[in-house]
Amino acid sequence: MTAYRLANLLYEGKAKRVHATDQPDLVAVEFKDDATAFNALKKAQLAGKGSLNCRISALVFEVLAQAGIPTHYRGLGQGDHAECWMLARPVRVIPVEVVVRNVAAGSLCKQLPLEPGTPLDPPLLDFYYKDDAYGDPLLTDARLERLGLVTASQRQELEVLALRVNAVLRELFHSVGLRLVDFKIELGLTADGQLVVADEVSPDTCRLWDEAEADVQARILDKDRFRQDLGGVVEAYGEVLKRLQGVCAQPQVYG
Ligand code: UDP
Repeated sequence: MTAYRLANLLYEGKAKRVHATDQPDLVAVEFKDDATAFNALKKAQLAGKGSLNCRISALVFEVLAQAGIPTHYRGLGQGDHAECWMLARPVRVIPVEVVVRNVAAGSLCKQLPLEPGTPLDPPLLDFYYKDDAYGDPLLTDARLERLGLVTASQRQELEVLALRVNAVLRELFHSVGLRLVDFKIELGLTADGQLVVADEVSPDTCRLWDEAEADVQARILDKDRFRQDLGGVVEAYGEVLKRLQGVCAQPQVYG
């Protein structure tokens, strides 16, 4: 017996399924084991990844909430749903990926003359249009305005929120010996118009380097292990969860 009943599937993405529930202000998010990279050209099933990302995201959302940052998160699933399901407020996701970078890595180093590992201070904030059909292109302010995806004041709000998230996450991960290189967040609007952090925050969406490891491959504890065929993906995500569990309270179960 759970405090909610699953209803119809609302949306299926590459890594998650979102179901309606019997409550209008509640959706259930199921984290899948599917791994994709390079605009889904590379695909695999990684047993246990969904559960790890669900539990890591729950811990991170709770830390963000404690810091006064609004999120869609309402708790982990109950019973059989404890591993891979998260309950959340329904939101209209803004189709903009907000990326904050503290250290140069990934696509940035392919597009600009920046050596991987170059510190970025102040952090660099980029907006990308979330649409696989167009390959998630970089958005300029003028393009954002042209597409009418957000108002000028919402754009400001996105930026302020993303930089606050960065400050909180940097400190959280640093407290467990992890360097937050960069991350992507998605934001959504609730029915009453509040801007909240939605989607997930996990090693699928953050680059995390082990601060105690000098080797440039061994230090990677995120999806780059999958992108670069380094192996040990699930083990790396497990290490991130284990470290966070050492400093965070048990995540709350919904209901
Ligand atoms: N990212 C993500 N989803 C995307 C694109 C990027 O979660 O569709 C994350 C990625 O894992 C990294 C950060 O955003 O932590 C910056 O990614 P980048 O722009 O360097 O792109 P990538 O090198 O991953 O293609």
